Amino acid sequence: MGGKVYLVGAGPGDPDLITVKGLRCLQEADVILYDRLVNPELLQHAKEGAQLVYCGKLPHYHTMKQETINHFLVKYAKKGLQVVRLKGGDPFVFGRGGEEAEECRKQDVPFEVVPGITAGIAAAAYAGIPVTHRTLSKSFAFITGHQAGDVEAEHQWYHLANGVDTICVYMGVSHLPSITKQLMLYGKSPDTPIALVHWGTLSDQQTVVGTLETIVEKVKEADIANPSIIVIGEVVRLHKKLNWFQEEIVPNLPVVHG
Ligand code: SAH
Repeated sequence: MGGKVYLVGAGPGDPDLITVKGLRCLQEADVILYDRLVNPELLQHAKEGAQLVYCGKLPHYHTMKQETINHFLVKYAKKGLQVVRLKGGDPFVFGRGGEEAEECRKQDVPFEVVPGITAGIAAAAYAGIPVTHRTLSKSFAFITGHQAGDVEAEHQWYHLANGVDTICVYMGVSHLPSITKQLMLYGKSPDTPIALVHWGTLSDQQTVVGTLETIVEKVKEADIANPSIIVIGEVVRLHKKLNWFQEEIVPNLPVVHG
């Protein structure tokens, strides 16, 4: 049997949230290259003798360059091995999975993509926030917070503020002040509800809710950092009613107006 690369979504955190196909790939893999946000419990499913390679990146410290990861994927597959590239959430959502697939294609290495549950949907859902809702939200956008200070992306804030009902921001915590400022600048009401969900789907999940005007202070008080998903839009009002997973109320949980 020839080698192959499987770009597998590990899901958002809770190890039960991987797909059946993803799990099967893990069990059969000869080599597993995994990321920092992948729940390590998932690695217990690796078969005996499988090689486990950590490719995690920390925000300011790249443990392994993307080119090196690409190189390994191709190298192992060309040896005839079954290679799993295990990524947090979904491999094609802010995970550079597209680049890895391109590299496989370029090197003539067969690959498959096994989608995963992305944090933007799952962390919101575990905080009782549906990203769409028949009366509250007919559209959602997934964006990265990294572009927050990027002047060239300014026009995008206009469109986000005016053209999308729910916005989920990945990698946005350190940019929260500039994200909220831009949205208000381009027309979103300061009363727009916003939630930050930290370590979504895991037992230590924390949620902080506020408005565009108040959230920066609340997050500072709660001392919350990455990994967190920021959800912005009317659907956040449902958190209070639908918060099914994390029953205890975080101190200082604000009252959402409206
Ligand atoms: N491919 C991943 C996203 C990778 S980018 C996916 O589809 O989910 C990494 C960012 O995802 C983090 O900075 C954070 O914003 C978000 N994230 C990942 N896991 C999370 C979790 N369990 N809870 C909250 N946010 C999470």
